[in-house]
Amino acid sequence: MDESNARKLICEIGRLLYDRSYVVSSDGNVSIRLDEDRVLATPTMTCKGRMSEDSLAVTDMEGKPLTDKKASSELAMHLLIYKERPDIKAVCHAHPPHGTAFAVAGLAIDKPILSEVILTLGCVPLTDYGTPSTNELTEAMRPFVKHHNALLMANHGAVAYGEDLWQAFDRLETLEHTAKIAILAKTLGGANDLPKDAIEKLINIREKAGYLTASARCQACGYLHESEISCGVSAASNGAKVSFTREELIELLSQAANLS
Ligand SMILES: [Zn+2]
Repeated sequence: MDESNARKLICEIGRLLYDRSYVVSSDGNVSIRLDEDRVLATPTMTCKGRMSEDSLAVTDMEGKPLTDKKASSELAMHLLIYKERPDIKAVCHAHPPHGTAFAVAGLAIDKPILSEVILTLGCVPLTDYGTPSTNELTEAMRPFVKHHNALLMANHGAVAYGEDLWQAFDRLETLEHTAKIAILAKTLGGANDLPKDAIEKLINIREKAGYLTASARCQACGYLHESEISCGVSAASNGAKVSFTREELIELLSQAANLS
């Protein structure tokens, strides 16, 4: 995306985040990866509902400013995601109230309660608390970035990312909507989980349709481990990729242990 359109889009998404109460005051931050070496990001200490296109900051991949505008202090979170996931071109961080309530209560959004969420987002893990804008926060997030497209940060908020900014925003919105439904269902006596076979069908559909790749099988959600869907463990053998189910791998490891 060219820089001028990226500037317009960040301001549009900023207004949406503010109008939908996903952020208040100067909360949250949004960025787009302009190319290999540059990121366009929301400025520090600015309400996302009233940004101007020329207020946005441009940095390199280490966060060094390339113009006179200063990026959000939470940019390190975005840079971590771009480094871990070359497929990701936009990041959206906010404090949406229902999703953040999960993060404050110490809960992940990882129950198999909504078919379309399993299809399009998968589950959202809760990462350990880390002081905002420090290495603590990025190190807590790092293990989860590869297989998930949205994360909750304990006692802080949520971040979602995608191939473009609309996809990142949509994922954030799905996270928030799911959290809201889960809270409402709880007040009605509790949500019913989808059964194992229904989950397996959904995982197969989402991979065939290209909504999520097989990498999402490795997400940190209990229902994947209880179903027949397993995280493929790849091993290089003469250049060929071999994958095992969790059970096969345990069997191989125990055989190896018996031999030694
Ligand atoms: Zn924040």
